[in-house]
Amino acid sequence: MPGDASFPSPADAGREMYELIRELFPICRSITGDGLRQTLEIISRRIPLAVREVPSGTPVFDWVIPREWNIRDAYVRKARGEKIIDFQQSNLQVLNYSVPINRTMPLAELKEHLFSLPDRPDWIPYRTAYYRENWGFCLPHTQLQALEEGNYEVRIDSTLADGSLTYGEYLLPGEREEEVLISCHTCHPSLANDNLSGVSLAVKLAESLGRGPRRFSYRFLFIPGTIGAITWLCLNEPEVVKIKNGLVLTGVGDSGKIIYKKSRRGDAAIDRAAVQALRDSGDPFEVRDFHPYGYDERQYCSPGFNLPVGRFSRTPYGEYPEYHTSADNLDFVKTDALAESFSQVLSLLRILEANRFYRNRCPKGEPQLGKRGLYAAPGIDELALLWVLNLSDGGYDLLAIAERSGLEFGRVARAAAQLKESGLLEEVPDRGAH
Ligand code: ZN
Repeated sequence: MPGDASFPSPADAGREMYELIRELFPICRSITGDGLRQTLEIISRRIPLAVREVPSGTPVFDWVIPREWNIRDAYVRKARGEKIIDFQQSNLQVLNYSVPINRTMPLAELKEHLFSLPDRPDWIPYRTAYYRENWGFCLPHTQLQALEEGNYEVRIDSTLADGSLTYGEYLLPGEREEEVLISCHTCHPSLANDNLSGVSLAVKLAESLGRGPRRFSYRFLFIPGTIGAITWLCLNEPEVVKIKNGLVLTGVGDSGKIIYKKSRRGDAAIDRAAVQALRDSGDPFEVRDFHPYGYDERQYCSPGFNLPVGRFSRTPYGEYPEYHTSADNLDFVKTDALAESFSQVLSLLRILEANRFYRNRCPKGEPQLGKRGLYAAPGIDELALLWVLNLSDGGYDLLAIAERSGLEFGRVARAAAQLKESGLLEEVPDRGAH
């Protein structure tokens, strides 16, 4: 169970997550290609990932697996001069998915393919050219403004060719076939919070949950954003019914408060457990309703699936200036934020694992607690006992009792365990069980 002594302390988990982010940071990833494979290979050293390859051209619902992109080098230099833009210095400097080019051209033509951030003149933006052929470079605005007239040698040594889309999957079986899906996009190049933080949290959760018994099975997906989730859903459609709860993990390493985005259903167990865990923690947090924009919750919560999958993040995309820029770097993510994210997701999963329906076996009048050692004794929480006894009519699960009573989930769960031990409560099958 999450929370057992076999689990790493949040502080240790935060440090280990940071180390994995540091190891993965330099790799030039994209939605296909060797950078993605290399990333999955590094993750495979920690958890036994199954790595899948889906050929280019494969139809997946309304989409088609694109050609595979790989890049070896890219630069711009003043004719016979030094390199002024260099992929080897930062992989953000090339427009991700750029087609190859090897030509000399005047500044005016080059400028049509340059991207910068006038408002943040020292940062390099992260830009992509998925699904539309183009080439380009990204650079600090100050550098762009300083470019002199003249001819420039422009080279992108990339290939866009038939190959495959790669993703990683790991199933951690539990007592039940019912699954909790943990999904993170693994396609961004050197950006730390978006989304190496989410990747590192998924890895740490997989390692930690693997150490103890589990009621639910846990399926971890390390996939390229959008196309990866669509591909997985398409290839695994018969299995999707097993997913009873899920989380998209993204942006969990910045210093902002935790923000949970509810599933499209809004009242799934994962949504209720997330709200309860965050409320119980006493830390600042925010809960947002589902909206059809964001990360891969868009695919899992598409109307044809409507899966109970929420999103766990800190500051969401677009709400921090460093988002999709070179400033989302190893200084931007913090080990204590990573540690807190780990701890909160574990608390949430702990609630899911412990949530049960019970029936009060002595519902006519209050049972006499004193004769069972459940009144005015050390370790006895009478208020929690009375709430659990009163609401355990088979219609309220422990989460619903915590919600209605305003008590912490831990108090309710402890009271239920004591009442079960004394014979006053019996477990009833939950409606989700098969
Ligand atoms: Zn992103």
